[in-house]
Amino acid sequence: MIALKIKIEGLVQGIGFRPFVYRLAKKHQINGYVHNLSDGVEIIAQAEKKSLNRFLDEMVKDAPAASEIQEINTEVISPGLFNDFTISGSTDISDAITEISPDISVCDDCLKDMRTQSHRINYPLINCTNCGPRFTITRDLPYDRVNTTMQPFEMCDQCRAEYEDISDRRFHAQPVACNKCGPKYEMFSGGRKIMDFDRILNTLSDYIRKGKIIAFKGTGGYHLMCDALDEHAVSRLRKLKKREGKPFAVMFRNLDAVREFAEVNSSEAEILTSWRKPIVLLEMKKQLAPSVALGLKTIGAFLPYMPIHYLLFEKITASVLVLTSGNLSDEPIITGDEDAREVFGTIADAIISYNREIYNRTDDSVVTFFSGKERILRRSRGYAPAPVMTLHNVEGILATGAELVNCFCIGKGYQSILSQHIGDLKNIETYRFYTETVEKYKRLFRFNPLLVAHDMHPDYFSTRYALELNIESIPVQHHHAHIASCMAEHGIDEKVIGVSFDGTGYGPDGNIWGSEFLLADLDSFERYSHFEYIALPGGDKVTEEPWRTAISYLYNSFGRELKHLDIPFISLMEGKKLDLILEALDKKINCPLSSGAGRLFDAIAALTNICHFTKFHAEAPMRLESLTTGSLNQRYEVSHQKETISFKEMFQQIIEDIHQETPVEIIATKFHNTFIYTIFRVSLRIRSETGLNKVVLSGGTFQNKYIMERLEPLLIKNKFEVFSQNRIPCNDGGIALGQQVIAAKMRK
Ligand code: ZN
Ligand code: ZN
Ligand code: FE
Repeated sequence: MIALKIKIEGLVQGIGFRPFVYRLAKKHQINGYVHNLSDGVEIIAQAEKKSLNRFLDEMVKDAPAASEIQEINTEVISPGLFNDFTISGSTDISDAITEISPDISVCDDCLKDMRTQSHRINYPLINCTNCGPRFTITRDLPYDRVNTTMQPFEMCDQCRAEYEDISDRRFHAQPVACNKCGPKYEMFSGGRKIMDFDRILNTLSDYIRKGKIIAFKGTGGYHLMCDALDEHAVSRLRKLKKREGKPFAVMFRNLDAVREFAEVNSSEAEILTSWRKPIVLLEMKKQLAPSVALGLKTIGAFLPYMPIHYLLFEKITASVLVLTSGNLSDEPIITGDEDAREVFGTIADAIISYNREIYNRTDDSVVTFFSGKERILRRSRGYAPAPVMTLHNVEGILATGAELVNCFCIGKGYQSILSQHIGDLKNIETYRFYTETVEKYKRLFRFNPLLVAHDMHPDYFSTRYALELNIESIPVQHHHAHIASCMAEHGIDEKVIGVSFDGTGYGPDGNIWGSEFLLADLDSFERYSHFEYIALPGGDKVTEEPWRTAISYLYNSFGRELKHLDIPFISLMEGKKLDLILEALDKKINCPLSSGAGRLFDAIAALTNICHFTKFHAEAPMRLESLTTGSLNQRYEVSHQKETISFKEMFQQIIEDIHQETPVEIIATKFHNTFIYTIFRVSLRIRSETGLNKVVLSGGTFQNKYIMERLEPLLIKNKFEVFSQNRIPCNDGGIALGQQVIAAKMRK
């Protein structure tokens, strides 16, 4: 007989890990107990050596889907007097507080139960301790049924028996339900309400076949759905969503179906099929309806994650559906059933809903895979609100984030809890979602803000929100926050070469920053160099009208002579329009200065006539990247002064290339290569001057796969230590984490 003290670290709390350990212990006749620690789970296990080994093996092999075991430490202790195995109650309420599991897609066992368990035949909201809604239905902690939106549904005798049977997979599964007692679907169409689930499913599949559009309640909000191969349906959906230019996400029947339409490597397949079921950006190889991706090579693909998705695909012949977030333009996705009827009543041909409330709105998460790592671009369903462990105590620090693609972050001890994706705070509905969600987090996580960190931009709504709290506040420079976010993710607390590139961020000199080489640690930074400032004629207008920035760059290289350039970009432009911009540039009227890397991409995309106007954020850089070809090493000339990097020569050479009718693919690729080489060269110079060797890459520009797949290896080959973001977005969705760790370090 041996006794072991087993300590398991990682994401093992609040996800049914203790009941899992209990069942395993019973199976192997192990005595002792399991309880939660502040940073994991501790098990005292006493049995024969053989049983203990099997117990440990299966603990790793069969751990609940949502758990992430980081470390297991075992220690032999002297045997005690145990004649049973127990789950010891939480001694301290605080350890029950900060654990809310992200939502988990339906598991295979439940999909089987849906065929075999008489009370759950085709039950479309089936779930168990290993799967189902979590965060989206949690109103309060501890995570018990009464504190979730399952509260109004009283368990039937059968469900209760399973819920109370510790050997059952549904033991303490809070959302446990069945056909008899659980929430039910309903369908509204043309003034009719259908309650019978079989009829709902039949009508729905009939509608999909006929090219209709359905508003469809998901786990974290409504989707709009239609057949992704039916151009008529997709283009109609695009019109109905208004001003929406973003590619639509598509849900495939299964992995084989994804492979028919897109290139999928084994890592991408793993992410697609993981329990989180995010949207994965993939390279398309077979056309969907043209209005799905609007000419981009990349599609956002995901697989079924709710039981009803599986049931639906069984009924229809289509193997791929558009499943785009149910909102209008920039508004948050709709979660409320009444709102859905109000907004979608006139848009959609039918609304499919179920009578359980979505308490915490979560969008589908978006990830991409490159240079060997999963990269989270939008962190929401399946990821939030799992914490990030931090080096410094972040207790009581609220970080309010940036403005576009906002997330905020609260601090609990050594855990940063980054909110789910909120969105663009300039939209009034999104701002309301933001303020409501901060309040929800305060209650859910028993969080009381004592210190607030915010962006330096005085006009960001997140800044105003921070200052209105009337508590101690710390302004954080945007690009410093990007670097700190990446440092926090990798547990770095020392001086680094920070390469912080994006479209825009407030600079303390009053200009717009966005191509920053920083010498940065957590509590301070020095700006080493950046791209030369360029005037943005029309100010904010340039983000939707990249042609303006292109003119400004040409003006910078050629002066007023640009008018005589014999290139299509100039000759096709209305003379009057051009004169107005030149006038503004001459007289510096509404021409803020920017060093934003995103603006350089915009300018090249416009100059090569790839994109003069944009319909969604970062469209021009995305279109430019999608033209790159992998097999070209050429680049343009760039001149480096002490503090600035000038692209004058590059523009002259690009004009040359245009004169020689060089294909845009070549120009786009040469530009990308130039960009990569520029970062490399400056990094080398910084290293030789300062001895710093860690390069930290962050900012939205590094969502560019072409750049990352070449820049990282180039730096690594030259013996740099390179850090980039993967679990936290490198775009402004990750800013709040950086703000928070900077504030924590400064507070020290
Ligand atoms: Zn399950
Ligand atoms: Zn039941
Ligand atoms: Fe940014």
